[in-house]
Amino acid sequence: MEVNIRHARAGVTIAVDGLAELRELEWHDGHVRIGAGLNLTEIERRLDGRIPLMAEWFPQFASRLIRNSATLGGNIGTASPIGDSPPTLLALDASLILASREGEREVALADFFRGYRQTELRDGELIRAVKIPLPLAPITGFYKYAKRRFDDISSVAVGIALELESDNVRRIRIGLGGVAATPIRALKAEEALAGKPWTKRNVREAARVMGQEGTPLSDHRASADYRAAMLEQALLKFFFEKSEVVRG
Ligand SMILES: Cc1cc2nc3c(=O)[nH]c(=O)nc-3n(C[C@H](O)[C@H](O)[C@H](O)COP(=O)(O)OP(=O)(O)OC[C@H]3O[C@@H](n4cnc5c(N)ncnc54)[C@H](O)[C@@H]3O)c2cc1C
Repeated sequence: MEVNIRHARAGVTIAVDGLAELRELEWHDGHVRIGAGLNLTEIERRLDGRIPLMAEWFPQFASRLIRNSATLGGNIGTASPIGDSPPTLLALDASLILASREGEREVALADFFRGYRQTELRDGELIRAVKIPLPLAPITGFYKYAKRRFDDISSVAVGIALELESDNVRRIRIGLGGVAATPIRALKAEEALAGKPWTKRNVREAARVMGQEGTPLSDHRASADYRAAMLEQALLKFFFEKSEVVRG
């Protein structure tokens, strides 16, 4: 995008997807660490379905051609409000390992986006890795609404990760793209569900709350009303498609 659209010509260009330090994928006791320089195909193959939310998301990202080249760090680094990795990773409660000559620091992804295409990154800092806490929430879903089925950017994207305890919501994380200047968490909908029985009635109420999250705009991709309606639909879809199956 920098070169094609903004016609930027840097004096020195570093292919960060070639840096060994950005290409690690490691499983640890409490988390998995995914190198920001790995492309999405590489991550998909190396995870091999072990993070089901990401496994559901990968095929919905552009096309194989793009996934063969687009790195996870690049998708986060563009800080696009309609990038697909942030809603997925926000639902997984991910944090970022940022590295520079001064050392490393960890920033929650939820705190990384500061404004439209603005991030926490300081001069000389790179996203080295994405850290996803384990164990993973057992019920997850990714919902992408776009004009075309493939090779298209989202109008709205929603990632959801849910953990139930005796049919009550123990923890739910919902990441949203396309409804604000940055990717955001659906904090009001999460709060509306926390600790409550996971019932059709409660989910319907929370879906109405979710339809009011963010500050969606009307543009060439979708109207603000459509975006709000799709937020509501995504939570309902998740309830009927995912949790009904799990709950039998
Ligand atoms: C046909 C097509 C379809 C697409 N469909 C989708 C889609 O479905 N969903 C979606 O989300 N996007 C989509 N995109 C957008 C694109 O795929 C992403 O923006 C891509 O992930 C960028 O990754 P990259 O590795 O090429 O990053 P680059 O373009 O190289 O970098 C993007 C930005 O991030 C910065 N950056 C790169 N790596 C790092 C790092 N490690 N640390 C800090 N900053 C870094 C760069 O400096 C630059 O500012 C599509 C693009 C095309 C052309």
